[in-house]
Amino acid sequence: MKITDLKCAIIGKTPVVRINTDEGIFGYGQAEWAKPYLKPFVLFYKPMLIGEDPTNVEGVMRKIRRLGSFKPYGAAVSAIEVALWDIAGKAANLPIYKLLGGKVRDRVLVYNGGIRFPLDGEDSPENFAKNTLRMKELDEGFSIIKQGIAVHGEFASNFKDYFYGDLYWDDNNTIVYDDDSQKPWALSQYIPNGAQITEKGFNYTIDCIRAMKEVLGDEVGLALDLGPGIFPSDALKIAKAVEDLNIMWLEDMITGDYTPYVLADLYRDVTENTSTPIHTGEQIYLRHNFKDLIDKRAVNVVGPDPLDVGGIAETKWIAEYADMNGIMIAPHGTIDGLIGLAAHVQLAATLPKNYIAFEYSVPCHKWWYEIIDGLPNPIVKNSYIDVWDTPGLGISFNDGAKKYLKEEDKDFFD
Ligand SMILES: [Mg+2]
Repeated sequence: MKITDLKCAIIGKTPVVRINTDEGIFGYGQAEWAKPYLKPFVLFYKPMLIGEDPTNVEGVMRKIRRLGSFKPYGAAVSAIEVALWDIAGKAANLPIYKLLGGKVRDRVLVYNGGIRFPLDGEDSPENFAKNTLRMKELDEGFSIIKQGIAVHGEFASNFKDYFYGDLYWDDNNTIVYDDDSQKPWALSQYIPNGAQITEKGFNYTIDCIRAMKEVLGDEVGLALDLGPGIFPSDALKIAKAVEDLNIMWLEDMITGDYTPYVLADLYRDVTENTSTPIHTGEQIYLRHNFKDLIDKRAVNVVGPDPLDVGGIAETKWIAEYADMNGIMIAPHGTIDGLIGLAAHVQLAATLPKNYIAFEYSVPCHKWWYEIIDGLPNPIVKNSYIDVWDTPGLGISFNDGAKKYLKEEDKDFFD
């Protein structure tokens, strides 16, 4: 089998990759839907793929893996890797998990960082608690809920004097987040923020965490995404102040999101001195960049995103190495869409005992649920997704998808 074409279409805001072969089998992958600018990065790899046998996934990846980087630039390589596995699975008439060594679980646990609601009113501990309760009451019955707080999102900028000194923040600097709600997505996620947290900022942070945990009780775990940009001394103070709450993990306090480096030693200083689990890794590209974190046991939980780290197999290698070192894994995935969701399920079915849950992936628009066939209905039951057995990723586009193709992509499904 030989690769004859590599295409990328932006469907809604989602970069979707399609690889065609000379045997009529094709495969799909995608990137996070916050990256509609990714198309030229995907097509850059096309000359390296034409003529290759896509069922030799690793052989093909060796040609392109070194040409990626930390988030967002590992996403194109990762999307191609997923599409290769889709083809390899279809060619073998097996689900991808069989090609990764087989499954160790029939259903996979997911956590909720993707289905969220705007706060009802001003930021306050009460409103964070109400918002968390709403997430708890979702039909999916999530057993772990993640909220953004501290430097993550707009929490710090919405609080007067959160830091000593000014935040880098530009209210005009937004792009459209959702075509339906017109909710803006601040480009400030790309701007490094952080300074020493004021005493009142610190107290407010802890009050909000306690209020959220109170509505969840001991039935639903609370994970928190706090950075990046918190100083290690503040990170340790926060971790120690919530030790009695049994928080699932504190994510990306020091580095994370779009920081193109790791700083494992700083994480180790925090992790060694608290019983609260510390988590990072969604922006990291390749297993090699997790080595320092894992060797030093610098965190308790790693959170690679298969659509940024280099793909499905890349994440499995990291999970296996982390398991040998007593470190858990909770793959990131909130905006990995429905092709990403299928990739996560295939991967999670094969991960060792250190697997906690992956972050339930949602699409950029609700209509994505109407154009993709093959997902269970409902997708999530009691916080679990049943692993399906159809070949490859086990999902496909139906005819309804064509109307969402832009003019320049109109032959995407050919
Ligand atoms: Mg995060």
